Amino acid sequence: TGHPLDQDAVLARFARAVEDGHGVLTDLDQHSGDGDYGDNLRAGVRLAVASAGRGPQRGFGALGEVFLDEVGGTSGPLLGLLFSEIARALSYGSADAAAFAAGARAGLTAIQRVGEAEVGDRTMVDALAPAVTALDRSGYAAAAAAALDGAERTAELAARHGRASYVGERAKGAPDPGAVGVALLFAAVAAVAE
Ligand code: ADP
Ligand code: MG
Ligand code: MG
Repeated sequence: TGHPLDQDAVLARFARAVEDGHGVLTDLDQHSGDGDYGDNLRAGVRLAVASAGRGPQRGFGALGEVFLDEVGGTSGPLLGLLFSEIARALSYGSADAAAFAAGARAGLTAIQRVGEAEVGDRTMVDALAPAVTALDRSGYAAAAAAALDGAERTAELAARHGRASYVGERAKGAPDPGAVGVALLFAAVAAVAE
């Protein structure tokens, strides 16, 4: 669509999904990591909601600053790169679906430059990369479906990066928490944009 994306509505919706998903995300990171992913993500969205409420930053700008500067874990700064690239792409021009797609692609590139994960390594990249491809071709709803599918498929993967690589094959059977978090983000974007 050519409509501008309502970033604050996306932030509100994503924040609600993270609040609702906190327990599941914690369980998933207990299964394959150290159990703090739900706390890291929830702390970040809470700070971003507060900061967007009192300052000039719109949704993704607030998320980007907070996750880059204040959120712990491996996921914090990596998500900060994604949010910041989306904020930057939306900040000039029409803030439409094409701008969002360009920002998400730049975020994926930045995450892979820093984290060096490829598709299939059992990370957030397994949800983000198919979502970016689907965005370019078919829009927000297809991207949300692709992110969810990519996240679910991580249940069959052993990790090659991050803490989950320490548990190897034992991570299998449940999806990667970071990939599920990215799927929640794209679901929020699709729900707001539809
Ligand atoms: P930590 O493992 O430091 O406790 P978090 O629990 O906050 O960090 O985040 C874990 C998530 O980070 C994983 O589920 C995975 O999706 C993501 N992740 C870990 N390493 C990488 C990487 N190299 N590239 C991209 N994402 C990664
Ligand atoms: Mg963790
Ligand atoms: Mg940790």
